[in-house]
Amino acid sequence: MSSIMDERVTDEIEALEAILMDDVVIKRVGDVPQSIETVLHPSTGDDIDQQYVCATLIVKLTPGYPDTSPEVTLRNPRGLDDEVLANIHLQIREKLADCIGQPVVFELIELIRECLTESNLPSGQCMICLFGFTKGDMFIKTECYHYFHSHCLALHLLSSRQYYEEEKEKLAPWQQMTRAPFKEICPICRIEVTIDPSSLAGAPPPLSSVNAAPFFLTDEMKVSDHAPPPISSVNAEPFILTDEMKELQRKMADLLAYQQAKGGIIGYGDSGPAPLTITTPEDNENNDNNGTSGCSQDSKVSNANSGIINNRQSGNGNSSNDNSAPGSPAARPAYRGPY
Ligand SMILES: [Zn+2]
Ligand SMILES: [Zn+2]
Repeated sequence: MSSIMDERVTDEIEALEAILMDDVVIKRVGDVPQSIETVLHPSTGDDIDQQYVCATLIVKLTPGYPDTSPEVTLRNPRGLDDEVLANIHLQIREKLADCIGQPVVFELIELIRECLTESNLPSGQCMICLFGFTKGDMFIKTECYHYFHSHCLALHLLSSRQYYEEEKEKLAPWQQMTRAPFKEICPICRIEVTIDPSSLAGAPPPLSSVNAAPFFLTDEMKVSDHAPPPISSVNAEPFILTDEMKELQRKMADLLAYQQAKGGIIGYGDSGPAPLTITTPEDNENNDNNGTSGCSQDSKVSNANSGIINNRQSGNGNSSNDNSAPGSPAARPAYRGPY
C-alpha cells in the first residue's frame, strides 16, 4: 500500500471508528490501516438475550482497495450451520463484485447483520445429544454462543461436577487441598460459563429424543468374530515409515507446539473431564471390571464400533499422565457422562 492513503479509505476508517467505537478494531502498520475487525450480531435492538447467532467480520485491505476487492473472512461463526454460512459467503462475494471502486465495509456490515437477523435461531444440533432444535424445545445459549438443550446442559454440568468430586475423593488429602476448584465450562469450547444447572433442572428432554425410535444394536453394528478382515488390508504392503512420513510427523509436531503456544489446543493437559465425552452405563461397567477382564483390546473395539463418543481411554486414574508428550493421549479414567 502506498504511503499516501486513498482518501476514500481514510474517510471510511474514520467513519467506522466514529460509529462503531470500541466494537471495531483497526490494525495498522505505522499509519496505514491493514485490516478491520468487528463482531456482528443480529439486529435485536438492545436485547442481547435475543441474539442467538454471531460472527466476526475481518476485512483485510488489499493494496489497491477500494479499486480492488478487499479480502473478507468470517471468523468464529456461532449458531450458524454450513448452509447458512455458505449463503452469507455467496452474498458477500456478490456485494464485493458490485462495489468495486467504492468503500464496502459498511455495506458488508449491513449485509451480514441482515443475514444474521434472518437466521437468528440456532441451527445445527445440540452437541450433547446430537438432536436438532425443534419448536417447543427449551434451549440455552452460553456466553460463548454455543447452544444446548437446557435439559442436556443441566445433565452435563451435574455429571461434570459429580465426576470432579469423585476424582477428588481418589486423591491424597494434600492433593485435594491444592486441586483447582470446580468450574462449570462449555462442553464445546471449555470457556467458563455462569450457568446454575439447578436453574435448568425442570427443562424437559429434547422433543426429538422423546419421539425418536429407541436405540438398539443391530447385527450389522455388532463386531463379529467370524467376519474376515478387509481384503485390501490382507493384500496390502507391510507398513514402512518413510522419510516423507517422518518429515510430516515433524511438521505436525511443530504445528502442535505452535497451536499449544497460541492456546489453540482445547483441554490439553487439563485435569477435568474431556469435553463431550459420552459413555453408556455398559462402558462404566466395563471400566469397573477393567482390572479383571484382561481383554482391553476387545473392549476398545466394541466401543469404537458402537458409535459412542469416548475420547478418553480408560485408565487407572493416574493423574501424573496428564502432561504426556504431544501425540500420546493422556491415559485418563473414562468420564461417567450423563448418558
Ligand atoms: Zn441436547
Ligand atoms: Zn462454548
